[in-house]
Amino acid sequence: MKSELSKLIELQKADNRLRQLKNNLETAETRRAELEDEFEKHASSIREIQTRLSDAKEAKVKLETGISEAKTGLERAARNLKTAQDTKQYEAAMREIDSLNRQVSNFETEVLEQMETIDETSAVLEERADEVENLESDWEEQLSEFNTTLSEDASELEELTAKRQSVFQELPDRLAAVYDRLVSRSRDGIAVAEVINGSCSACFMSLRKQVVVELKTTNEIITCESCTRILYVAEDESKEASAVS
Ligand SMILES: [Zn+2]
Repeated sequence: MKSELSKLIELQKADNRLRQLKNNLETAETRRAELEDEFEKHASSIREIQTRLSDAKEAKVKLETGISEAKTGLERAARNLKTAQDTKQYEAAMREIDSLNRQVSNFETEVLEQMETIDETSAVLEERADEVENLESDWEEQLSEFNTTLSEDASELEELTAKRQSVFQELPDRLAAVYDRLVSRSRDGIAVAEVINGSCSACFMSLRKQVVVELKTTNEIITCESCTRILYVAEDESKEASAVS
């Protein structure tokens, strides 16, 4: 049969886990929203590059159309120049040629700029091709993992709550009351504290050697002289100690 102390330890471990599970479930919606935000930021950074690329391609096509229209205009102006009947017609044709040449040259500069953007954005998308391709499926996987963990937490909470109840009921009333009082008194909900390196792990008070020896060799309920929590030494440590003694 289990000692009272080991029941108390089990109860404390169950309560610690239950607190963690409740916290997981309570913060689930916030955590999900954070994940969605992160995904959205990520997706929009990729969309932004894709948009820059398609805008640049579109602009390049328009500029090229503009260039070929201007060149048609230049041919027309050149014909007008040849057939000019007077100075006025001649000068008008010259002016048009000048202006169309400037336009072609401006358009060509702009085409180069758009080509630079196309090269840059294509290179980035190429580099991030895997990421771009798997964006949606990675996200769905992440979301489904999140939901799985959440439902696992919910069922663990349910099972552990029942188990905790039965452990608690096995305790003598006197100890159950002590446990409840200690839990309600402490902010961290710790009533049963492990002894680590000879100190109470809840209040960090160094314990007298005699107390540690008693803890290792008996199953008595011993409390911390400083914080009054119930103390215990982890199993492997007390086994080692009894093997040595
Ligand atoms: Zn203590």
